[in-house]
Amino acid sequence: MKISAKTKFCIIIGDPVDHSLSPAMHNAAYKHLGIDGKFVYLGSNVKITDVKKIVKAMRAMNNFRGLTCTIPHKIEVMKYLDWVDPVAEKIGAVNTVVNDNGRLKGYNTDWLGVVKPLEKITGLKGKKIAVLGAGGAARAVVYGVLIKGAKVKIFNRTEEKAKKLAEEFGCQGTGLDREKEIAEFDIIINASPVGMMPNEDQTPIATTLINKNQIIFDIVYKPFKTKLLREAEKKGAVVIPGVEMLLHQGTAQFELYTNCQAPVDIMKRTLYRKLKIKN
Ligand code: NAP
Repeated sequence: MKISAKTKFCIIIGDPVDHSLSPAMHNAAYKHLGIDGKFVYLGSNVKITDVKKIVKAMRAMNNFRGLTCTIPHKIEVMKYLDWVDPVAEKIGAVNTVVNDNGRLKGYNTDWLGVVKPLEKITGLKGKKIAVLGAGGAARAVVYGVLIKGAKVKIFNRTEEKAKKLAEEFGCQGTGLDREKEIAEFDIIINASPVGMMPNEDQTPIATTLINKNQIIFDIVYKPFKTKLLREAEKKGAVVIPGVEMLLHQGTAQFELYTNCQAPVDIMKRTLYRKLKIKN
């Protein structure tokens, strides 16, 4: 590694961001490709009120190549950019800012984090997909699977929010009290925090609704396998853990920052090692 004045840097900002796995994942990829003197990836806790200042600094520093934003900075940062990709505009959030010679461009790679792991298993065109939750992450989920031709229904605790999101994206939306319908879906994606540590004993829907022909994707990644996924596995369903979303939003982001093809296996191995999961 030869860090110099020419080294470009990328930073993940959030509040808090101390436990982010992005620096480890990106730095391992730089090292593997032998570009760890060209790029370095850092992290910093930044208050939402300071996002504007960070963007100003980025504009002033030509080797400040990439800015990764976590919630709630993903929405705030959009105000200060020169250009926002139409996909990110539609999703309503930017998780990736690229400094292109002083021109700051905003992208969203979260939807790829959803679509890529699913497409490794099945085509999405015409598939009936139930999305649980109607918050920020659900927006990227719904965008991604709709663009791939799936038939989507959003189930949310607050029915009005499901209906509002569904109307905006041109799909269906209802309350979680209608969860029985979910038994008829091909794919179930949990985009709510239900089941996340420390509430590991919770599931967003009754697991009696799951069958062996379904694919269950839980975007929660702590724990690695939520109760929803553990129960789905027992029934013989195919399960996708949330770490896959983290990985694939990260590989797409890596490519935007470096213009190099992401070494997916290295990035995956790094994530799994950090999460103490056997790969
Ligand atoms: P958010 O904007 O706060 O939205 C949360 C959604 O979940 C809302 O629709 C909310 O329903 C619903 N919800 C919350 N608690 C619930 C409960 N106890 N029962 C039923 N529904 C509940 O959050 P977000 O940013 O979308 O994040 C959601 C989850 O995705 C988080 O766990 C986050 O860590 C995870 N995530 C993972 C990745 C990844 O890379 N794997 C990326 C992004 C997010 P109401 O509308 O009724 O409040």
